[in-house]
Amino acid sequence: MTDREFADFLFPDVKDISYYEEKYAPRNLKEGAIVTRCAPSPTGFVHMGSLYQGFIAKQMARQTGGVLFLRIEDTDQKREVENGVDGIVKDFMEYGITFDEGYGMGGNYGPYLQSERGEIYKAYVKYLVSKGYAYPCFCSPEEIDENRKIQEATKERIGYYGRWSTCRNLTKEEAVERIKKGDPYIMRLKSQGDFNKKHFYHDAIKGDLEYPENDLDHVILKSDGLPTYHFAHAVDDHLMHTTHVIRGDEWVSSLPVHLELFHLLGFETPQYAHIAPLTKKDEETGNIRKLSKRKDPELAVSYYHEAGIPVGAVNLFLATIANSSFEEWYLQNQDKSYEDFTFTFDKMPIGGSLFDLEKLESVSKIYFSKLSAKQVYEETLDYTKEYDPSFSKLLEKYKDYTIALLNIEREIERPRKDIGSYKDVKKEFWYMYDELFNEKDNPYEEVTKDYAKEDLKAYFETVYDEKDDQETWFSKIKDFASSHGYAVNRKEYKENPESFKGQVSDFCEMIRVMATTKTISPNLYDILQLLGKERLMQRLNLFLK
Ligand code: GLU
Repeated sequence: MTDREFADFLFPDVKDISYYEEKYAPRNLKEGAIVTRCAPSPTGFVHMGSLYQGFIAKQMARQTGGVLFLRIEDTDQKREVENGVDGIVKDFMEYGITFDEGYGMGGNYGPYLQSERGEIYKAYVKYLVSKGYAYPCFCSPEEIDENRKIQEATKERIGYYGRWSTCRNLTKEEAVERIKKGDPYIMRLKSQGDFNKKHFYHDAIKGDLEYPENDLDHVILKSDGLPTYHFAHAVDDHLMHTTHVIRGDEWVSSLPVHLELFHLLGFETPQYAHIAPLTKKDEETGNIRKLSKRKDPELAVSYYHEAGIPVGAVNLFLATIANSSFEEWYLQNQDKSYEDFTFTFDKMPIGGSLFDLEKLESVSKIYFSKLSAKQVYEETLDYTKEYDPSFSKLLEKYKDYTIALLNIEREIERPRKDIGSYKDVKKEFWYMYDELFNEKDNPYEEVTKDYAKEDLKAYFETVYDEKDDQETWFSKIKDFASSHGYAVNRKEYKENPESFKGQVSDFCEMIRVMATTKTISPNLYDILQLLGKERLMQRLNLFLK
């Protein structure tokens, strides 16, 4: 029996691969255009790692005038979650990862759902059989497991290869007989590799890699008729004309079999770019480790939703970790968006991408500082409607007031950077809302310094005039302070600190504390203006108690 006849026997009703090769003609794109994809499995959980991959893939495709498509890898039906696909698409979209084609949106290279591509995979398995590069395997999972145990005990390499690959040596006639008898089987690659031979590969991110050749007879078609990841990856990325496979580096160890599959199938190999995993410093051990689904809530996309960190800030952060030179560029290009930056593979981290929440917070503060007060207001309102309804009522009630508050020191060259999440609006500025201020038994409890109550009383009763402009206001403060024992001149104070109650700045701090309970706030003059004399006097009375 020839290989060809054997292939016909195994797959009598499938099309010849020439059909698919013609159907999925090369894309007509300009030189250098990157065609890449997001290829999630529908496990219902898009985590930061998938978004990071999607972010990089999107940037590389957009930057080069290429294509980003979405392929759903649902060949492991045991892991599938109901509605998992919709959740994934929604999360990607929310984070601005939009696709040119793919699952749910069509395109010329579909179907984009692997479980709908069964006939295609079979055609290519048949092709491999016809070349003598694939064979049916009748080993039961128990037998495979038994072999694995022996391999473990004798410290041999784990897997189906060499003397362990029993079915590789069955004759075609024997195999046909067993199939006719109804014995269940799967299909395996008949590896042509030699484990003792090295091969080299240049990964776009990791650089030069050196590996032993693959010699494992990997499963390519499972008992349910669906392909394994390895095989589907080769066939799909070939037929969909992917130029760059951008994926997590947990797949690096599978590279040898992927390269062999491309080679034996007669496909041109795409360029691989393996992304380093997101890492963090472990709180207990202090060691850097991969983010884990089990231990780290920040791996879930929903975490950012709840924490009130906007999509734009997360993306800015992803840009920061994706390319070492991004941060510097962004500092120098204040008016630009991360999307204007040209990302390159060679500047992507190799070992691990440190996903540090503190760093995210500081990036988020930069992000917020560039929004208009109205934008911050509106987005915070949306957020609080979901997560803090009582505060959202205050925001609605005091709309213009809040926008004016958020606008203090905003539209300037170096805007304030005190808001890193929607939650921070309340956390930072609760004292500007009497409802929240009055909720506290004693809003001044955090104030420990002994403030000169008398001076504040005198100042507000006799000097403070809310009609004063900032300059007049401040010169009056100086006059008042100097006539009440505060130094106006720094040098004078330094020389003789005991003879003063403090400096003008100390007096201003007292006003600030009285008005806001805090020693730090946005520009004091603006804060006092917003509060207005009447509310200031109420606060003064409380402060004097
Ligand atoms: N379905 C694979 C995963 O979720 C995709 C890997 C790839 O991008 O090729 O890990």
